Amino acid sequence: MSIAADLRAIVKDSQVLDAPAELRTYAYDASFLTQLAPRSPDAVVIARSVSDISAVMRYASAHGVPVTPRGAASGQAAGAVALEGGIVLALNAMNRILEIDVANLQAFCEPGVVHATLNAALARHSLIFPPDPGSSRMATVGGMASTNAHGMRAVKYGPTSAWVLGLQVVLPDGQIVETGSVGSRAKQSSAGLELTKLIVGAEGTLGIVTRLRLKLIAIPPARAIVLGLFDALENAGEAVQAVFAAGVSPSAIEILDERCIQAVNLFRPAMALEPVEALVLFEVDGNVPGVRWDAERVCEVIGPLARKAEWSDEAARINALWEARALVGAAVGTLRPGSNRAYCGEDICVPVARIPETLRAIQDISARHRIPIATYGHIGGGGLHPGHLIDGRDPDEIQRVLLVADDIHQLALRMGGTTTGEHGVGAARAPYMAQEHGPALEVMRRIKAALDPKGIMNPGVIFDPPVLPFELPLRGPVGEPSAAIIDPG
Ligand SMILES: Cc1cc2nc3c(=O)[nH]c(=O)nc-3n(C[C@H](O)[C@H](O)[C@H](O)COP(=O)(O)OP(=O)(O)OC[C@H]3O[C@@H](n4cnc5c(N)ncnc54)[C@H](O)[C@@H]3O)c2cc1C
Repeated sequence: MSIAADLRAIVKDSQVLDAPAELRTYAYDASFLTQLAPRSPDAVVIARSVSDISAVMRYASAHGVPVTPRGAASGQAAGAVALEGGIVLALNAMNRILEIDVANLQAFCEPGVVHATLNAALARHSLIFPPDPGSSRMATVGGMASTNAHGMRAVKYGPTSAWVLGLQVVLPDGQIVETGSVGSRAKQSSAGLELTKLIVGAEGTLGIVTRLRLKLIAIPPARAIVLGLFDALENAGEAVQAVFAAGVSPSAIEILDERCIQAVNLFRPAMALEPVEALVLFEVDGNVPGVRWDAERVCEVIGPLARKAEWSDEAARINALWEARALVGAAVGTLRPGSNRAYCGEDICVPVARIPETLRAIQDISARHRIPIATYGHIGGGGLHPGHLIDGRDPDEIQRVLLVADDIHQLALRMGGTTTGEHGVGAARAPYMAQEHGPALEVMRRIKAALDPKGIMNPGVIFDPPVLPFELPLRGPVGEPSAAIIDPG
């Protein structure tokens, strides 16, 4: 019997997909790696309940079949694809908001609830779940928890892990457990090991998140935006440090480099952004007088470093500037008509003080490999998203962009940063984990082995690089790039 036939005896026939064309749609996520090496699973299960999931896991555990949980597949790290075959467990149909507990500032959700849908429902109670990824209209809360997503407002409100109070999790053997104290609605706890934090960011390698207890806050009543235009990247970096030193905690600090500004203007000429080396947006939120004080203070401290610094609390201006930021990911494609973005080496994070140096080094990498790169990111926390533009039909460019990604990952580590600030490790960055964590990786492997002794949960992600149909052109910490064999066909 096939895996799909076995699964049809466990869940409803309509919940199991195994037609090749259907499986193909599960062979990718938003990563470049899965564009190069798409991998169809043997079967997909559309999960409808925790008991479905528990039954599927009991079957998978008994037969040693790999299982890959999948939310919206907006992840850019090749984490939601069954790179070693087996079952993809699709969680996006489990998308009910189970309860909004206004008095206790908590929401209970199934894992497939889309982030923007949750916040639209919360807004009716003047509440918000603060993590705010650019993929808000796609990403599921289960995917966000599993990657510990950050987003623009993490600089003030922290990552998703700060907002998850408890989880229901199906373990690899099918057992259902609740983390964060059974039945608890407490906002604090010191009771034992923080299993919630262990599962958050585990990228589906330790179990499947089937329900989330999320912490909420009231929507801040006021916000304002400060636009800073800088002739030199170094001044932009100094300005961010000066703002923190002045005692202001902005709710977002975002940077667009020169190429991104050009791209936004090409994509939406009405934006008419001034051509400078760096544009930085500072958002402040809170109560009305506090917001005004903060915005004026930001202008005052960045003024001497900037060509222009201006603030506004008018909704139209705030929305227009955030739209420019939101557009940039798509707009960078206009810099090179016919090109596509290769999402690899797209998510580094470095110490804030080293951002200008890092941005200049990315420009050098771009020139060295002859691949245009436009960089934007969450500069307040050190997160940078280099956007590489390639002709995806040209094997030489594919080879070169993989070298670009490797150079960028190595750069991040050299700067004292990380290969991923918020998108996660997936399969794409698994080869760097030994270098990034040293002996701590072995500790992680032991935790993984304790919870998943058969190694069936999302193999190829985080702990051990997947077996790919080509060699990734990785440089070690020292030495030259290997002679990679790239055959994307
Ligand atoms: C345009 C765009 C903008 C983005 N902006 C941001 C941003 O600002 N900040 C940010 O952090 N990320 C961003 N991302 C990346 C991505 O959206 C996030 O990583 C998001 O959290 C993934 O959610 P998902 O539902 O798509 O998860 P998927 O991509 O489906 O899965 C991601 C990982 O989580 C695992 N997983 C998913 N659901 C579960 C579950 N219920 N239980 C256990 N494991 C699970 C999967 O196995 C996989 O390893 C962006 C992506 C795009 C395409």
